[in-house]
Amino acid sequence: MAKRPALKPGERATLPPPTQLTPKWGQSVSKPTAKPQSSQPLAKAPPKSSDNPGLASERLRSAMVARLSRQGITDERVLQAMGQTLRHRFVDDALASRAYEDTALPIGFQQTISQPYVVARSQALARDYCQVPDGPQVALEVGTGCGYQAAVMALLYPQVVSVERIAGLHELAKQNLSGMDLPQLRLVLGDGLVDAQAHGPFDVIVLAAGMADIPVDLLRQLRLGGVMVAPLGQPEQRLKVIRRSLDPFAPQPYQTFEFESVAFVPILRGVQN
Ligand code: SAH
Repeated sequence: MAKRPALKPGERATLPPPTQLTPKWGQSVSKPTAKPQSSQPLAKAPPKSSDNPGLASERLRSAMVARLSRQGITDERVLQAMGQTLRHRFVDDALASRAYEDTALPIGFQQTISQPYVVARSQALARDYCQVPDGPQVALEVGTGCGYQAAVMALLYPQVVSVERIAGLHELAKQNLSGMDLPQLRLVLGDGLVDAQAHGPFDVIVLAAGMADIPVDLLRQLRLGGVMVAPLGQPEQRLKVIRRSLDPFAPQPYQTFEFESVAFVPILRGVQN
């Protein structure tokens, strides 16, 4: 989410199909085979990360979840969803070894994959503040990017719509998510501030890009008791939760809660082909 100029404008992060993931997690899977010196059977050595790329990414992911919990994320479902979503599949091959660091990484088109803490924090706040009586069912993300947060959200809500304005990133997200069985997730190409409205109303709206002010039209898409989590403000951005009152006649229909400073890329308008 932080602005990083690492890829040139229009340059696209390409991802290999899952079968090509192997080299990311180790130097080589094949090892020189030493001949046993005696006829005694050799004790089996514990597997090293380089022996099993899947295991290496699993360890890094568990370490990331442990770090998130030390950083104050206590929502077990969010921690579980973060632990289940393979973040390394959403970044370029060259960056995959850094996928579980607590940092934003470039995904092309001058955009970034959000820092794990910010993804977890946004989802935990949404779940914590949402007062929709039967629990949140329908969620919207504005700013699919590479699709990572959308995949996390698909593990938290029965229905998720994620809108992206850059056609190349919409395609990249589709590609990244294609092997995952997430029929509850719908990816839409469009300007999330306008085109999401056809899919509402929503119990949860998460903006993955920053705005100076609250997007009022989108706020009207919240169900009673629903919440929007958004990086708002200029020049200083803060993560905010805006909750629609459960009472349709409340004199104050929306309540705002303010959290930490953040640095998201800005929301832009219209579709970029
Ligand atoms: N959700 C991503 C992070 C995406 S970065 C993740 O999981 O890491 C923010 C994204 O918001 C960018 O891809 C940007 O193109 C997109 N964006 C900005 N303005 C938008 C708008 N009006 N509608 C839809 N997407 C928008």
